[in-house]
Amino acid sequence: MSADISGFVRNVRLVKLVLRVMDLPDKTIKFERQAGTAQGYRYPLAEEYLGANTQEQLEELADNSLMERQFVAKEFGCPKCGSVNLSLRLHCPNCDSTQVERQDIIEHVSCGFQGPQSKFVDNVCPKCSQPLGQVGVDYVRQGTQYVCRSCDQIFQAPIQKLTCMRDDISFSVSDAPEVSLYNYGLMPRLEEEINRAVNQQQYIQEKVEALGFKTRSPATMTGRSGVKQTFFLVATSGVGFMKTNIVMDIINTGSTEEVFSLYAKAIDVGAYGVLFAAIPSLSDDAKKVADSYGMTYVEAEDMSTTADRLVKKFAELVETPEERMLEVFGGLGKQGPPSQVA
Ligand SMILES: [Zn+2]
Ligand SMILES: [Zn+2]
Ligand SMILES: [Zn+2]
Repeated sequence: MSADISGFVRNVRLVKLVLRVMDLPDKTIKFERQAGTAQGYRYPLAEEYLGANTQEQLEELADNSLMERQFVAKEFGCPKCGSVNLSLRLHCPNCDSTQVERQDIIEHVSCGFQGPQSKFVDNVCPKCSQPLGQVGVDYVRQGTQYVCRSCDQIFQAPIQKLTCMRDDISFSVSDAPEVSLYNYGLMPRLEEEINRAVNQQQYIQEKVEALGFKTRSPATMTGRSGVKQTFFLVATSGVGFMKTNIVMDIINTGSTEEVFSLYAKAIDVGAYGVLFAAIPSLSDDAKKVADSYGMTYVEAEDMSTTADRLVKKFAELVETPEERMLEVFGGLGKQGPPSQVA
């Protein structure tokens, strides 16, 4: 099953996150309630690495059994925005106002008026202006009920509604979707894969360095466009004016689009050559594209064979005589960026 996991393992930011979580005592990405945020909760640690759609990515990992959902709570969400930052409010069943209060209700038997105790100022009935008189004879206490200050309605049970603190809409509990809140724990399978990937990455770095290159993996370089381009590995030789960078990457769909986009990234950073691995394979069209743009590639069924083949290919290329290397790795220059002046 390592072919489908390799897509996740190639995700540099995810690998960094997993390495961080592996160091935590409980190896878990924790949910944190935060009122000011869109959903009313966040995964701050994961967001540092995964950015805006963190929860979506965590869910995808859970769907692929790479992380384990650990139930925290089931809560109501806003039907409009999904936020769980809701407040329960009591509404008047007559006019919907939230100005409802619990009060002791008194009935003045002699005139039949019923109202909250607060209306009987100085023990005088507000309707007939007579004194209240004797309890149990002239008036009776009817217990606690709710009174609406807006429409004066007296009622036993107010309507309970949830209000979304984000977009200020109210809805009944029965209209609110239930939202399950989870922490996400690392599954051993993901840990093993990441460890293996890190070992392979280190293995590739060692081998490439043994050939006289400096390496960075993963490597981010700012291109001429100003965009930060990330590669699986960048091998550098020479200094100053003579400095050359060879970029290495791993692609997953094997499509022409993926090859084009890698080429564009490499050109943007002025790479001298591109070597990439396609897991598990490259389409025939993509091979033609790679060949015509002077990109070197290997195909490999999984990560472990990828490491070996990349290293072998790299060694083959750099150990061949200068002219051959120029021919193979100099392919990018042949196409050249449009701005390049001869
Ligand atoms: Zn909302
Ligand atoms: Zn009312
Ligand atoms: Zn009265």
